[in-house]
Amino acid sequence: MQHKNTTNWQANDRSYIWHPYSSFASNNPVYPVKSAKEVYITLADGRVLVDGMASWWCAIHGYNVPALNHAITSQLASMAHIMFGGLSHEPAARLATKLVTITPAALQTVFFSDSGSVAVEVAMKMAIQYWQAKAKQHKQKFIALRNGYHGDTFGAMSVGDPITGMHNLFSAVLAKNYFIASPACKFNQPCNKTAISELKNILRQYHHNIAALILEPIVQGAGGMKFYSADYLKQASALCKQYDVLLIADEIATGFGRTGKLFGCEHAAISPDIMCLGKSLTGGYLTLAATLTTTVISEVISTGEPNMFMHGPTFMANPLACCVALASIELLLASPWQSNISRIEEQLTAGLAKCSELAQVQDIRILGGIGVVELHQAVDMAVIQEAFVTAGVWIRPFGKLVYLMPPYIISNQDIKKLTDAIYQVVQTI
Ligand code: PMP
Repeated sequence: MQHKNTTNWQANDRSYIWHPYSSFASNNPVYPVKSAKEVYITLADGRVLVDGMASWWCAIHGYNVPALNHAITSQLASMAHIMFGGLSHEPAARLATKLVTITPAALQTVFFSDSGSVAVEVAMKMAIQYWQAKAKQHKQKFIALRNGYHGDTFGAMSVGDPITGMHNLFSAVLAKNYFIASPACKFNQPCNKTAISELKNILRQYHHNIAALILEPIVQGAGGMKFYSADYLKQASALCKQYDVLLIADEIATGFGRTGKLFGCEHAAISPDIMCLGKSLTGGYLTLAATLTTTVISEVISTGEPNMFMHGPTFMANPLACCVALASIELLLASPWQSNISRIEEQLTAGLAKCSELAQVQDIRILGGIGVVELHQAVDMAVIQEAFVTAGVWIRPFGKLVYLMPPYIISNQDIKKLTDAIYQVVQTI
């Protein structure tokens, strides 16, 4: 590790800053960005990249969006932040009202936090406090799916896939939960008895100890980019009700249209007991997450010992973040987002089809605004990243997965640029 305080910010970045899942011992490239507008990222050296990632799936409207810029600058004139303990503000109330309006009808209360991982922690704590308030203190465990991913904090890690979830290093300190196989039934297919039997058996045997089932509806994201049957989700929801176990839907990646429905749960017409939102909630502008639950759960928690929900982040309901989230949702709902997602799905399907002829490719799958090319072997990040940048695109694979989740405003021409780059680059590795 080199320590030299220079006036060159890029050298200081390399010396002092951890990037996500990074190492000071490697020389994996980190590309300096000058600016971003629409679906284009301009690097410091002037190269312009077409963005295939929407900044880890958040920037659904692209970058430098006039309506979102305006929302932040006008709120900035009154206040950037104010504590939420004992004080409140209109942006939070307006956003909460919008969220309860657009999510399944039973979800009626909103807890704001700073990031997806924290929204998941909050959901898990709500489930535990709910059962404690109902004098069922032994209901403390969770059921989670293999290939699931729910964040990097300890509670969230304890329900993430122990192997693909990159959390096996910490397994000795993580709470022990029940893991079941990733749903075997594919999207648009029915879910037969065998596919749901493991969940059924665990619920039958252990429901006295189980607070909730947590899952990502329809699309398992960072744990493996897998798509599964809405029928599975429907049956899982019914089983949870039957065995008195709560259902937590982690919509942090699937929420706000990515799968072709506003929320993944809509594919199965289910209403979870608790829902987590994050990522594209603010259109990728600021960090904000939300955990929604029902009136019944909120009342039970509020009237049980210690008569309050035990969580309260410093930056809870930051006004700038709430304003930009509201503007982002309004922009989304006023846009032809469904036809945009169908168009992206068609273009990804057409553009990625030819990858099936490559020896490196194991599977190609597309759903809504998500295109995945699964390889036989994990990629060498440094090599593949440089190749994509040279091809004029920003695509950041992980493990064996090369995938696209572009902003919804992307043109067909730019989608073709992304899919052509995958075809060209994958055959060279
Ligand atoms: N849940 C899901 C489904 C996610 O995809 C992610 C982030 N990839 C998280 C939770 C954690 O969100 P954050 O990174 O904002 O903590």
